[in-house]
Amino acid sequence: MARVGFIGLGIMGTPMAANLVAAGHTVVGFSRRTASIEKAAERGVLSASSIKDVVEESDFVITMLPDSPDVEKVLLGEDGVLAFATKEQVIIDMSTIRPDVARAIAQKASVRGVAVLDAPVSGGEAGAIEGVLSIMVGGTAEAFNKASEVFAAMGKTIVHVGPAGSGQTVKAANQLMVATNLQGLAEAVVFLEAHGVSVAPALEVLGGGLAGSTVLARKSKNMMTREFTPGFRMDLFHKDMGIVTSAAREAGVSLLVGSLVAQVIAAVVAQGGATLDQSSMITIVDKLSRPQD
Ligand code: NAD
Repeated sequence: MARVGFIGLGIMGTPMAANLVAAGHTVVGFSRRTASIEKAAERGVLSASSIKDVVEESDFVITMLPDSPDVEKVLLGEDGVLAFATKEQVIIDMSTIRPDVARAIAQKASVRGVAVLDAPVSGGEAGAIEGVLSIMVGGTAEAFNKASEVFAAMGKTIVHVGPAGSGQTVKAANQLMVATNLQGLAEAVVFLEAHGVSVAPALEVLGGGLAGSTVLARKSKNMMTREFTPGFRMDLFHKDMGIVTSAAREAGVSLLVGSLVAQVIAAVVAQGGATLDQSSMITIVDKLSRPQD
């Protein structure tokens, strides 16, 4: 069993750390907020008072932070993870960040002989709680193999997709598919409601056909009830669509639907929905389709 340091105990990090504990690993957590540490402690996560303590007590150090600058600060900053990491350890960033930033971090760490994997996830809060995340991993095969027992505690579909940064590129493709799928679901729900069709049985039958998807299974209830407690916050989704659109531009790829849906997400955030769940994309379809009060 491994000693795992865990930095970033938010919506995703806490259940992921709890699943590592449940699998028998020793988990030492660090977060800026006392409330997060306390919540994780209830799930058996030991608490450290600094990043240095986390690194010194761990074989693997996992980060699950909001955005690229947060990961750069925690890994590369003064008193950050790399300042204390040794060649025996593997650093695993499971946040969703820019692929070029993931590559730069891995490059800087490799100069010091330290392996860093980019290992973003898909499956949402429910997937994190159930320990069934899809984990897409970029980095060396050696580090991937070393970390496999750690990944197995948090995920079900775990794939080494290529060298450093590849995990984040695959995650960007994931978000492109999820975002366009959510927009389709939102439009279908508003369409069915406008026709006076009972939405729950309609989605039940649609879920058994070609239109069925994990997005439908996990997010349709929020859309039907207009209940938007996150889950996955719109500000993080907005960040992800920025990654998708800029990575597409770099590669010379046109995203006709993806860039349009990125604007729907931008609109929800601009209208005050930054902390709502991603299912709140339906509010834009509502606004475009119905007279407002
Ligand atoms: P969150 O905001 O709930 O959690 C992030 C945590 O990191 C917070 O507890 C915050 O206090 C902590 N943090 C930030 N800066 C820190 C620092 N410098 N030191 C220590 N702790 C710090 O976000 P989340 O929903 O858990 O998402 C985390 C990452 O996973 C994001 O990159 C997100 O895009 C990605 N993700 C989220 C979901 C989801 O459904 N929520 C699904 C897949 C991927």
